[in-house]
Amino acid sequence: MKIVWASPPNLVYDQTPHYFQALFSAGAVYLRSRFPDHEVVTEAAGFHGSFQRVILRHFACHSTAEYLVVWARPWEAHAARDLASQVKQLSPSTKVLVWGEACSYFPHYFERQPFDLYAVNGDPELVIADAIEAMERGEQPVHGVVFSQDGKWHYTEKGEVLAPEFWGFPDLEAIDPSVYQYWRMQRGQKVDDLSFAVSRGCPINCARWCPTPRKEGTVDRRRSARDTVEYMKRLPEPYTMFQMHSPLFCMDREWVREFISLKAQACPETPFKVVDLMNPYADERLVAELSEVGMKNVGFGVETLSAKGRHMIPKMEPSLLEKVAANLQKYGVSSKAYVQMGLPGQKREDILYTFKVLMDLGLKPRPTGSTPFWKLAKMTVEELDQTDLTKWDRKTYYEPRIGLSYREFMAIVHDPVGFLANSEELLQWAA
Ligand code: SF4
Repeated sequence: MKIVWASPPNLVYDQTPHYFQALFSAGAVYLRSRFPDHEVVTEAAGFHGSFQRVILRHFACHSTAEYLVVWARPWEAHAARDLASQVKQLSPSTKVLVWGEACSYFPHYFERQPFDLYAVNGDPELVIADAIEAMERGEQPVHGVVFSQDGKWHYTEKGEVLAPEFWGFPDLEAIDPSVYQYWRMQRGQKVDDLSFAVSRGCPINCARWCPTPRKEGTVDRRRSARDTVEYMKRLPEPYTMFQMHSPLFCMDREWVREFISLKAQACPETPFKVVDLMNPYADERLVAELSEVGMKNVGFGVETLSAKGRHMIPKMEPSLLEKVAANLQKYGVSSKAYVQMGLPGQKREDILYTFKVLMDLGLKPRPTGSTPFWKLAKMTVEELDQTDLTKWDRKTYYEPRIGLSYREFMAIVHDPVGFLANSEELLQWAA
């Protein structure tokens, strides 16, 4: 049996490698562990900018693959369908399975030919592996998927989650490091991060625009601190830092304490960065201890502040922000404060005010467009077919309602500090 684990060819400006390493390639690693006597090929065409033929060649030779598993995020849905159609033309017996955020946000898009199955919930690598195993036995899949059989679509039980000791680590062959560096330079980044899954799930569940609770659930689940540190003992070339793939790195304080203690013994110098809520970093001792064991950067969602004290989601306390900024500066930890442009109820003044507050505190803003994927859920399949989903990527999606011109939006996305340093409105606010 041969399984092709692929991302469809569909380049976007913001090719985030973390997801390809921690989700996509690690998912293939898990499938290999489940089918050790079979071939699992990865084709990260969506990252490499490859031609569709790089994937199609696995279906045109004498030993065609039995399964194509396609990773589809919302902006890749059309590319996934086109790839699936081409594969079915070449190899009608191949089963086409699809997973990813597009399946969570607008599952109905995939409930038609040429797809045979889509993953809806549970951990995707587990539900897909179980579904393939069931189909190989001539049985029906039982959890986490919707599948087609005898011209009907069948719904299974809720998807199960995978115990953290079975979470894969990245397949370093799946992403070409030279292509990784190329995209990193295109995006103006300076550091090559190697991302791997540390935790999944978010109990905060604070905003409908956030895909994490929807796709990973609302329970914080973690790889053991020991396995995490063991993996971090060796940082392979060309990577210069680990990126801890986790929605809320410090959510489990007991785990964090154990991580700090183990890392201090094993590899205190190995640098890493995290993504988290902002709140834990108001604790000076925690920041000090994490920086002592190599933490170099914290990314956290500010999303938006309100210029006039209106209630915005999520609610953010500026005094807490001050404390966090002071702690990070004191211990030499850089920051990435995520700001979204286009949130419900947000106005131009809120966006500019947010940037002003962040810059005054010495925090580095990381602005993106806010992509309202929930709107896609309400569209018909025909409407989805006619919508240019490639524009629903976070560095491209522009919402005129917020009162920024398209030029301003693009300037902020590409050079927030330069734009904001020269913004007359901000200078007036500062005066
Ligand atoms: S924004 Fe952060 S805290 Fe809120 S639901 Fe998403 S991952 Fe959880």
